[in-house]
Formats: sequence, structure tokens, C-alpha cells
Amino acid sequence: GQMAAALSHEINQPLAAIETYAANTKRALALGRQEIAEGNLDRIAAMVARISELSGTLLSFSRKPATRLQPVAVQAALQEALILIRPKADRSGVAITVDPALDGVMVEAGRIRLSQVFVNLFGNAIDALEGRADGRVAVELKSAGERVCLHVRDNGPGIAPELAGEVFEPFFTTRDGQGSGLGLSIVYNIMQDFGGSVTLLPAEGGAVFELRLKAAQAE
Ligand code: ADP
Repeated sequence: GQMAAALSHEINQPLAAIETYAANTKRALALGRQEIAEGNLDRIAAMVARISELSGTLLSFSRKPATRLQPVAVQAALQEALILIRPKADRSGVAITVDPALDGVMVEAGRIRLSQVFVNLFGNAIDALEGRADGRVAVELKSAGERVCLHVRDNGPGIAPELAGEVFEPFFTTRDGQGSGLGLSIVYNIMQDFGGSVTLLPAEGGAVFELRLKAAQAE
């Protein structure tokens, strides 16, 4: 049951993005904007490839293989996550900014899985910022050495300290009827697979998630 729920949770974001880009392509074609339509079709194709890779990744959990890690540019994973989440962020008027200091930073990870981490954290922040005109999410590089430390911060309502121990549990949600409660547990498991970690930091005025990853050398 958990596997089925996780699969549908992870596939929902790319499906929603495909729907948006498809509608946008129709408008672009009606206006004769061929180049916009072509760009959108490329994105749709990339998201379909992502869905098949996601389902492959999730199926492979049932076989528990040693997870393969490789050097991944944090920016590449972030850009991929942004393509997916931007339609949702734009609909909600939330601005997402990425620290330019992240350029060139490489970590031990899997590119799709690292982008899943960002998609889930961004998606949660956007949900928490619902109805706010000044919603912001920022990705910041805190330190880089043997370990790379990143913060994903938003200016939403934050998370009560007494819930800090529970938010990473599967099926824990405060969004009755809307949340699956799987996003943060998926983030937690992926970060474990990378030999890294995710923690919720005590913060005022919003939620701050700290990601720690092993640094990798560019090949
Ligand atoms: P879901 O989003 O489906 O509820 P998650 O596992 O992604 O499941 O998140 C669990 C809970 O953690 C959410 O229901 C919400 O209460 C809280 N949460 C997660 N991220 C944030 C955030 N950025 N701001 C406020 N609350 C958050």
C-alpha cells in the first residue's frame, strides 16, 4: 500500500506539469508561436521520461539493490525540479530563488532522486504559502567541504516544534483530505540512500529544512 501511494504521489507532480504545458502548447499554437510550442513539447517529453524513470526507481525498491550514487551537480537537479514545480509556483505567486554560490557544487547522489527531494520540499512550501501574496522559497548554500550543507527556507507559517519529530513519518499530514503525508518521508529516505540527511531546523517566520550531502569531485 505504501509503495502504491508513494508511486502515485511522485507521479502526480509531473502529470500536473504535463497538463499545464499541454494546455499552454495549445494556446501557443493558436497564436502561431511555434517556438514556444516546441519548447513545451520538449519539456513534456522530458517529464514522460522522468515518470518512467520514477516508476523504475520505485519498482527497484522492491528488489532493494545497492543504490548507485554518482557525482551530481546540485544546480542540474534544481533546474530539473524547477521545470516541474514552476507551473504550481506561478499559479500560487510564489517566487523561488537559488543561491548562485551553488554553481559548480557537486554531490554524491542520483540526479532524478535529488530533484525529487527539491520537488517535494518546494511543493510543501508552496502549499504552506497558499493565499499569501509575498510567498518566497530560497535555496541557500551554507557550507561546502567534505559535506555540502544546503537550506531550503520559506516564509510561510512554519512547523510547530512539537511536530518536528513527526513530519518525516509516512502518512503524517496536517492537510486533511489534500495531503498524502508521503512527501517528507520520501525526502527522508532518499537522503538516507545518499548517505546524507534532512533535518527541520528550529526557525522563526517559516520552515527551514537542512540538507547534508557528501561532496563529490567533478569527473
Ligand atoms: P503532505 O504535504 O502530503 O501533507 P508531507 O510529508 O510532505 O505530506 O508533509 C507533512 C506535513 O509537514 C504537512 O502536512 C505539513 O503539516 C508539514 N509541512 C511540510 N513542509 C512544510 C512547510 N514548508 N511549511 C509548513 N508546514 C510544512
